[in-house]
Amino acid sequence: MRKYLIAGNWKMNGTIEETKALIDGLLTGSYDTDKAEMVICPPYTALTTAGKMLNNSKIALGSQDMSVHKNGAYTAEISSEMLLTVGVSFVILGHSERRQYHAESDQQVNAKAKVAIDADLTPIICVGETLEERESGNTEAVIGKQIDGTLFEFSAELLNKSVIAYEPVWAIGTGKTATPEMAQDVHQFIRNRIAGIDKEAAEKIQILYGGSVKPDNAKSLLSQPDIDGALVGGAALKADDFLKIINSL
Ligand code: PEP
Repeated sequence: MRKYLIAGNWKMNGTIEETKALIDGLLTGSYDTDKAEMVICPPYTALTTAGKMLNNSKIALGSQDMSVHKNGAYTAEISSEMLLTVGVSFVILGHSERRQYHAESDQQVNAKAKVAIDADLTPIICVGETLEERESGNTEAVIGKQIDGTLFEFSAELLNKSVIAYEPVWAIGTGKTATPEMAQDVHQFIRNRIAGIDKEAAEKIQILYGGSVKPDNAKSLLSQPDIDGALVGGAALKADDFLKIINSL
């Protein structure tokens, strides 16, 4: 039985004061930790504050990206070791906004994911098609290529330490959500593709859905057999909404 994972991607939102208020709100809320794990991914500047507040709590801390390099002359980059020192245990990799605005490729995501796992960080590896790709009937071809590329040379052991997020690009921040059936179809496709690497690992791996998940649509999405959680943007910025999503399980 796979446990649910509800992850909040704060993107470029959250001053220190806002971070404190949002985490205070989350820490006062309750949810069933046997059913689901919560992780929040604030911006880099808020990670230290967040890490201190979440220390010894049930909420895990994640980063929104990470350098593939361990250290050295890489201006503005943040390494896995730096993230570990502030209490980070998850890292989002290959988010469509990183792919779109920073030209991140599947190969780079693959290399970062290996570095993350090596450092004991759990990568949340994002894949997703654009509206044009969906409308031209290419969703499976695009997702299949992204899965093959981001999981290149992954063994069962690496798969067991990874999380996948399916985020249709056209549903991110737009208020448009894939129907539960559309999402389920792609999640099943991803699981089958991963089964081509290792059947057991495919059954175990958590595949999150992301794209305008809100309190009122979370239950129908999360009740699909191959949807094991959510990667939430906008609705993760309000403690009440984020708690409602995890409590819709
Ligand atoms: C995201 O940023 O990963 C995301 C899914 O955003 P939103 O929930 O706002 O669509």
